[in-house]
Formats: sequence, structure tokens, C-alpha cells
Amino acid sequence: MPAFTSIKAKAIGIAVDQGVNMLYDDFDGNLPKVESLINKFAGSGDSINDAQLRLFNMVMGYMKDPTNNWRRLVDNIINNVDKDVVKTFVHNFFVNSVTIGGARQREVNDTEGCNCPWAILMDPTTRCNLHCNGCWAANYTNANHKDLTFEELDSIITQGKDLGTYIYLFTGGEPMVRKNDLIRLCEKHPDCFFSAFTNGTLVDEKFADEMLRVKNFMPAFSIEGFEEATDSRRGKGTFERVTHAMDILRERKLPFGASMCYTSANYDSITSDEYIQFLVDKGVLFAWIFTYMPVGLGAPVELLATAEQRAGMYDKVRKNWRNNVPIFFADFWNDGEYTGGCIAGARRYMHINAAGDVEPCAFIHYSDSNILEKTLLECYKSPLFKSYQAHQPFNSNMLRPCPLLDNPGMLSEMVHETGAKSTDYVHPEDVDELESKTQAAAAAWAEKSAPIWAASPKGRLSDRLAKETGDPNAWVKY
Ligand code: SF4
Repeated sequence: MPAFTSIKAKAIGIAVDQGVNMLYDDFDGNLPKVESLINKFAGSGDSINDAQLRLFNMVMGYMKDPTNNWRRLVDNIINNVDKDVVKTFVHNFFVNSVTIGGARQREVNDTEGCNCPWAILMDPTTRCNLHCNGCWAANYTNANHKDLTFEELDSIITQGKDLGTYIYLFTGGEPMVRKNDLIRLCEKHPDCFFSAFTNGTLVDEKFADEMLRVKNFMPAFSIEGFEEATDSRRGKGTFERVTHAMDILRERKLPFGASMCYTSANYDSITSDEYIQFLVDKGVLFAWIFTYMPVGLGAPVELLATAEQRAGMYDKVRKNWRNNVPIFFADFWNDGEYTGGCIAGARRYMHINAAGDVEPCAFIHYSDSNILEKTLLECYKSPLFKSYQAHQPFNSNMLRPCPLLDNPGMLSEMVHETGAKSTDYVHPEDVDELESKTQAAAAAWAEKSAPIWAASPKGRLSDRLAKETGDPNAWVKY
């Protein structure tokens, strides 16, 4: 922690607590005081960089307008989420992760020459209590399941914090199969923010009480449309159980989100106004939107969203939901412009599966390193991650960020060049065969997305800087 002494970190923590208390007491009356508190802190040297300060000033503008959608989301949080949970979130996310962790990540980048991530996604287990269509975990059975032990998960987090990473997400398998260990990790690392992509069916009152006790766990429930759409992919009765889990958390003023994977089949259901209103009514505060990837042998290619559907999601999120719906939406793939393209390979995030294989991304099942054999830093420096680092961004059109979904040839080049192996231990998938499944969709999206990107503010900036500098990716460094 080079730029932040423990005294300074403590001072920031006290200021954050004070700020949240003041906003809960009287939001409009105390907002100017909180603003000046943060400005004073920002002016004290190395605490906030220029980009963070610009973002802060923009957010303050939104907060002063009660009709602004971001302000409505904050009102929603203050009215419906436990104050101490919010304090913990703000402290762990904005102070520990973005500010303190960000400085440490940049230092590791500079001194070690490798990417160092903002978040690590881990599979505590391959086990799952459901059998969803199109999910690779459905291929694993009780006879061949794998788990990372509590000690192994704890070691990853301990190493990660030392390198500046304070955000840990769990997927699987169904991570709640290990819910007691997840709570133990939250308890052991109270300075980290934890989340899980969960089917929600194992969340009960006892677990919700534990969440309220540790305060640093915020699940995202996988839910894809109403009852028929959710149950047809995840099994009968799943919709009722996941909505019941939402109710349990809401009763305790615990925050949660939704994870929505859209396919060619459920697109209409997921994007309907009724469905989005249903999420608001249930108390969903954030929504991760993913597009389906045909990863795994036998994964149906016809479920890939069409280019029209992908463009439709872009419009829905930007022109409608982000202006009118008090939920924080992250539209993965289509939001590449905000992240400078693909974030995998530890550029911003990475994935560790339940066998310990360190993968660039949860959707990229190839690896040349295992966390049970190497340190985390050694994994960041692996040939596959270094190859990601060398190739990113994979396209100057940020609507085409993905080496697998949008740029066929990229993933296979990196896998062949580094000798990475398939990590699917039941049905290893040849990377060239995998890429052949996305070629037609990638070509259609290349054509459809080109004018959308060219007309967008970042697309125009990118075009201007490319002409001025000769570097098609100059805007990413801008
Ligand atoms: S590899 Fe593809 S899915 Fe993974 S982070 Fe990069 S763009 Fe997203």
C-alpha cells in the first residue's frame, strides 16, 4: 500500500462513515457538505486522480437533480438498504478497491510489467443443484465435481489484497452450495467486497441473517424473464424460489441484483417493459446483462443473440433504461467503450475455476497456469495472460471487444501461441471448433455495429484521434 498509510486509510474510512450518515439523515441538506468534504480530501495530494475527480463532479451534478435517474437510484438505496451495509459497501468498493487498491494495482503493473486485476471471479465448486440449458456446469456430475478448499480461496484473497484487489465474485457451479464458506470468507476479509452469481434457490432466512451480520456480500440472482422463460432454462419452480429469495433479502434491507443472460430465445421476455418494471418492484438495485456464449461441447449455437437483438439491447440500455429505470445496468460486451474493450486476462478481471485453473475470463476455458501450483503474481505473468495484455484491445470498435465472440481468430491465436489447454475436464473443447461456432454471429455483428460505433461520441473521438496519431486505439489512452 505505497500511497496510503494505514493512518490515512483510517481517516478516509471515518470520512466515509460521516458522509453516509449525513446523506441518510438529510440528503439534500447535507449534500453540499459531503461534496466539500470529498473535494477537501481530493485536494490533499495523491488520494484521487484527475479522472476520478471528473467522475465525482459529474456524479455530484446528477445528485443535485431529483429527477435524474442516478439520483432516483440513490434515493431508492437510502430508502430501502440498511445504512451499515451501505457504509461497508462504500468503504470496501470506493475506498479500498478503487482508491487504495487502484494505486497498488498500478504499482504492480509498472514494477512487474503484467496486468493486475480490479476483481477476481472464482468458482468455489463445480457442484450445482440445478441443470440449466446451455450451462457448461451441467456437464459436471457429483461423480466428478471439484471444489477449491476454504484455505485455497482464502489464500487467493490474501495474495490478491497484497496486490491491490479487493473485489471477489463467485460463480460455479452454484456458489451457494458453499454458502457457509462464503460467509467465513466475508468475515475473514471485512475490507473486501464479495458477490456471487447465484440461482438463488439456496438463499434462506438463516443465510440472509448472516449476510446482514457480515455486511459485505451482495448477490446477483440469475433470472431470465418471467416464470416460463426462467423455468424453461433452469427447471420448474426456479422462478418462484428465486423471487422468494429476493423477498427474504428485501425484508432485511439487504441489497441484491439480477444477472440476466439474453439469448435469441428469451430476448423479448428480458427486454419487455413489464419485466424491467418487475425487477424494480422486486427491489433489484443492479443488473448484469450478458449475452449467451456457446461455450462447451454441445452448447446450442442457435441460442446466440442475433445482431439485431444485440443492437436492440444497446438501444434499450442507453436510450431507455439508464435514463428511466432506477437500477444500475452493466451491459457486458456493449459497454466495451467504458472499459477500453476486453477486461479479461487480469486487465481488470480474471477467473479461477474450481480445479484452480487460472483463466482469462469465465467464458474462456483455456489456461496455462494453476493457482495450486503458482502464486497469483506468477499467474498474472503467465504466457496466456501476457498474450492477452499484448493483444488488448482486440478491436478499435469497442462494440466488438471479445476475442471469442467478436474477433474469431484472436482466441485461437493466443491459445496456440502459448500452448494453453482446455480446462473443461469432462469434454475438452478444441479452440478452433469453438471459434467456428461464433464466426457467423461475429461477421453479422461487425457489419451491424460499425455505424453504431461510428455515430457514438466515443466512436467519433476514436476516429479523430486515430487520424491525428495514426494509432487506431489512441482514444483508449486518452
Ligand atoms: S474475453 Fe470476451 S467475455 Fe471475457 S471479458 Fe473479454 S470481451 Fe468479455
